[in-house]
Amino acid sequence: MSRASQPPFLPTTRSEMERLGWRELDVLLVTGDAYVDHPAFGAALLGRWLAAHGLAVGIVAQPRWDEPGDVARLGRPRLLAGVSAGALDSMLAHYTALRKKRSDDAYTPGGLAGARPNRAAIVYAGLVKAAFPGLPVVLGGVEASLRRAAHYDFWNDSLRRSILLDSKADLVVYGMGERAALEACGRLRQAPARDKGVLRGIPGTAFMGEAADVPAGAPAVRLPSFEEIQADPRKLMAATLALEAQMRSGAWAWQEHGGRRVVLAPPAEPLSTGEMDRLYGLPFARAPHPGYARPIPAVEMIRFSLTSHRGCAGGCSFCSLALHQGRRISSRSRSSLLEEARLLARRRDWDGAITDVGGPSANMWGARCAADPARCRRGSCLTPSACPDFQDGQQALAGLLAALKSVPGVRHVRVASGVRHDLALRSPGYLAALVREFTGGQLKLAPEHSRDRVLGLMRKPGFAAFERFLTVFEAESRSAGKQQFVVPYLMSAFPGCTDADMRALACWLKARGWKPRQVQCFVPTPGTVATAMYHAGIDPEGRPIVVARTDAERLRQHRILMPPAAAPR
Ligand code: SF4
Repeated sequence: MSRASQPPFLPTTRSEMERLGWRELDVLLVTGDAYVDHPAFGAALLGRWLAAHGLAVGIVAQPRWDEPGDVARLGRPRLLAGVSAGALDSMLAHYTALRKKRSDDAYTPGGLAGARPNRAAIVYAGLVKAAFPGLPVVLGGVEASLRRAAHYDFWNDSLRRSILLDSKADLVVYGMGERAALEACGRLRQAPARDKGVLRGIPGTAFMGEAADVPAGAPAVRLPSFEEIQADPRKLMAATLALEAQMRSGAWAWQEHGGRRVVLAPPAEPLSTGEMDRLYGLPFARAPHPGYARPIPAVEMIRFSLTSHRGCAGGCSFCSLALHQGRRISSRSRSSLLEEARLLARRRDWDGAITDVGGPSANMWGARCAADPARCRRGSCLTPSACPDFQDGQQALAGLLAALKSVPGVRHVRVASGVRHDLALRSPGYLAALVREFTGGQLKLAPEHSRDRVLGLMRKPGFAAFERFLTVFEAESRSAGKQQFVVPYLMSAFPGCTDADMRALACWLKARGWKPRQVQCFVPTPGTVATAMYHAGIDPEGRPIVVARTDAERLRQHRILMPPAAAPR
């Protein structure tokens, strides 16, 4: 191992660095989440990955932003600072669907809000730039990734420029960042003079550039400029769809902002199975840094969960996570997941249950495109109907779940990630195994709505698929002698959804005798097609749609399903 061999925890203080014999870091990671050394936390995942490639990495988690020195407590790193707002966009983390301040934060010790600023990526980038003049600052994570181009911001109800301009960062990494971060470090190692262009053109990144940055003859897409979108909100739809297409095709893209050009290099290639295995096989402590005195709520949810894959082929028009991770699925191997289960079962704090096996969706492990995804023009592999080139791995997934359950010391295996129900219906063997053995009494499903017109706008399957799933679920539960329930996740105030649509959904629920518990009032998060619909008042084909836009309209839709006391989260 190099000088940056994997320590029990990545250092968060000077004294921890000294104990490791490190005088300086190569890479400083600044994050808006607490530091939990678990692969479900982005800073730990990236930090361990970089350390495995010989880099000395330290983490400053949730630094004070009223004290410039806090972000600098590990000293100036040799190569760069990587900055992320955390697992969620900081505005989404701080405000409810009606823009009321939240009091809780699952990624913070004690579960209390207030440990990170609004627009954390911009604030942290400013702190790092002030503390270490001239140090390259690289933004990553969901907040930066989905704000890489001009975007609508729900929280101040306006169009905002690319986060590159507002943060003055040198680079934004979009999508999953392992390849781009490693490439940036490699280039900076070779470029002691830190010439201005050294970070330009890395796959999976956006940067301030010029026409000459796009290689001659390379496919490239011009996005409507910031000013064009400002003048005509419908251009946001064109820009959003063009960005989706750029992610699929691997083209370059650029967007003008007042004569300055944001250039997007082609997306990074998703990690291979071998790379996923190496990444998730790194020696994570699977625990919060020992410096924390109070529990971190998110840890309890993920401590004994297994990430089987990344990416989601569904392409739901409102989903930030799937947009960030992309449509192509990167899966770990069966042996890697079994090895992780064996490691869990040997831990002192092990309680016998694997609480989840999944990714953005539960049942896309092993799924692949049998064609050339770069030539694909669809927004979803599954809707409006399944693409003939989409190959799922659900039969093998049923076998994987059974194998995990037979690992010595494992008493239960549960699937807590959302199951894509239309996909599950394609594999009766998987569906039977899921319902009979891995549901644990309750299964989370996201039909989102009952009206096919609204579901079409969401890029969700038609409602008949959900009803077919329920029939199978109930039959399998009965024949297994189990009383089990589906917990439906529903959405109010989606663009194109009317009060009458909400009443139709309420009628369907009443007819089944269901009282909804999980209703999300739609939040237009940056970068999604649904957000472009909300802002522009059109569907992706440019046809006008009704939008519940004011808080009063949104609340009225929400209350058709939920009692007045249940304020939207
Ligand atoms: S060709 Fe089909 S399977 Fe491949 S990415 Fe496109 S929709 Fe998905």
